[in-house]
Amino acid sequence: MGIKVAKFGGSSVADAIQIRKLRDIVRADEDIHYVVVSAPGKRYADDSKITDLLYLCKTHIEHSIPYEQIFQVICERFLSTEENLCVNVGIAEELEHIREELEGGASADYIASRGEYLNAKIIAAFLGFEFVDAKDVIKFSDKGKFLADITDDLIRSGLKTTPKAVIPGFYGERWDGSIKTFSRGGSDITGSLVAHAVDADIYENWTDVSGFMMADPRIVDEPKPISTISYMELRELSYMGASVLHEDAIYPAKDADIPINIRNTNDPEAPGTMITAKPAAGGDQIVSGIAGRRGFTVIGIYKNHLAGEKGFIRKLAGIMEDKDITIEHLPTGIDTMSVVLDDRMINGKLDEIIDEIDRQLQPDTIDVFEDMALIATVGAGMSARKGTSARLFTSLADAGVNIRMIDQGSSEMNIIVGVESKDFETAIRAIYNAFVK
Ligand code: ASP
Repeated sequence: MGIKVAKFGGSSVADAIQIRKLRDIVRADEDIHYVVVSAPGKRYADDSKITDLLYLCKTHIEHSIPYEQIFQVICERFLSTEENLCVNVGIAEELEHIREELEGGASADYIASRGEYLNAKIIAAFLGFEFVDAKDVIKFSDKGKFLADITDDLIRSGLKTTPKAVIPGFYGERWDGSIKTFSRGGSDITGSLVAHAVDADIYENWTDVSGFMMADPRIVDEPKPISTISYMELRELSYMGASVLHEDAIYPAKDADIPINIRNTNDPEAPGTMITAKPAAGGDQIVSGIAGRRGFTVIGIYKNHLAGEKGFIRKLAGIMEDKDITIEHLPTGIDTMSVVLDDRMINGKLDEIIDEIDRQLQPDTIDVFEDMALIATVGAGMSARKGTSARLFTSLADAGVNIRMIDQGSSEMNIIVGVESKDFETAIRAIYNAFVK
């Protein structure tokens, strides 16, 4: 017997059909004590998420555009779920109250949070669990800073006498009593916070995929699922775009050594992906996953005797800091240094950046490579294994892909290559085939 916290994402609680699946999952496992829920998400590809509709009502009101039709769609979805599941938690009255708050100028955070709030009320009643409002246990300072220790204590003491509860995800409360949400997808964070506070054995994160795949299925045909991956490896992958879980959700669970199990509500038999504190021991798996993203620019700086010049990196970093840009990577040669930047950060400031590098660093040449893609090949199994990079680079050469940049951390858990955008997909397939097939 252990304690599990199960968080169900938007598509897993999108309507009565999905909520019945949730009920079956929770019923089948006595260890699931705490359930964290998102707002109803999409039921089909073109559907709307309730959270988006709530935000839309708020912006309509702000611009004095009629919002009633959108609000009506929200009402119908909640009312039909309440009716369909044969529970009675006063959704009509709750919706009327929300409408009044909306008219009265309630904040966007408050309005957006109501999707989780109402859904949690319905699901708690349907499961016969207690409803615990997130505002009572998740706290922010008046300025909106998340208060981790206070939250941890409040969840722990709040749930101590509540053996089975449903908690809405995504939001908490500032000291002044106003509602504050996490960033989008933040119910994952709520689940992780609850898992931490109740010292759960596992944090199950139920979604609509059976865990992570070793590569993007839009690029690689039927990639293999990842059965186990460490937090650290996942960070390297999610940073590059493989996102199923909100990145801030990792930390509370990791802090308490709680594994996160990504599961599929529509295929509850599938074991999903287990995210663990330590990489899986042994085995001959070298690579855990391959992920990447387009949209980077590499600025190559060449200067005679650069290697002996003091303060060069500091000045370069200072230029980026002044322009409010974070440096993604900084591969160096003897007299060369490349700085890899995310295009979203550059945001039209490339000429200014080049001018500043020219002025402050006085390099001999500056080369700019736009339209670059970065690909991270990640695997704890790569560490100290001879021939791994040779295999990777050979696969790219064989596929006719030119590598513009290479970066390998000292942990040897991650090799990042920069290729031209046009080669992005070919490169991912080549690496996948070299290590996985
Ligand atoms: N409903 C929120 C969103 O759409 C939060 C969540 O589901 O995690 O972002």
